[in-house]
Amino acid sequence: MNIIILGPPGAGKGTQSARLVAEKGLVQLSTGDMLREAVAQGTELGQEAKAIMARGDLVADSIILGLIREKLLEPQSRQGVILDGFPRTVAQAEGLEAMLAELGQKIDVVIELKVDEAALLKRIETRISQGDTARSDDTPEVLKKRLKVYHDQTAPILPFYQARGLVQSIDGMDGIDTVADAINTIIAKQGNA
Ligand code: AMP
Repeated sequence: MNIIILGPPGAGKGTQSARLVAEKGLVQLSTGDMLREAVAQGTELGQEAKAIMARGDLVADSIILGLIREKLLEPQSRQGVILDGFPRTVAQAEGLEAMLAELGQKIDVVIELKVDEAALLKRIETRISQGDTARSDDTPEVLKKRLKVYHDQTAPILPFYQARGLVQSIDGMDGIDTVADAINTIIAKQGNA
């Protein structure tokens, strides 16, 4: 089963994806994690991506599709993948569809985590006031930018997947366990849980 977990920054995509890896044996493909690893290793891609990520913009579609292609070709991805933070543009969604078709596969469901953005901003401001910020893109300014980028460039992939009947939306502001239950229910309905 191949799942996309979609939602604005801070919606809990990473948390829920990690849980699905532990509980369902899916392989998590997080383009954000891949890029952060490249930055940490100081690769050419990392050097290119660093400033783009720090200001909350998107890395080029061709680069992202190249990263995902490599991972999808790995044998363990055949168990099913959970895509976290990808696709983020319609071009990426189209590229993904073509790649999966080549592999005789498809996306089974897109789970949209809906959030209250004002509450997200408040959450990040509280974390920072407590001196608790782990990432350089974890500031109110960059979060605002990332939310804008989400609306402008990522939200348009919702109609793309709605047209294919794949979108299931849930309230991402609920507690982690409640969100997890809602996701499990959706996956169970796909007949594969
Ligand atoms: P994330 O951890 O998914 O929020 O990603 C952190 C940052 O990495 C984003 O703000 C972007 O700069 C970059 N990034 C991650 N995934 C993608 C993607 N699919 N397309 C373009 N840029 C991405």
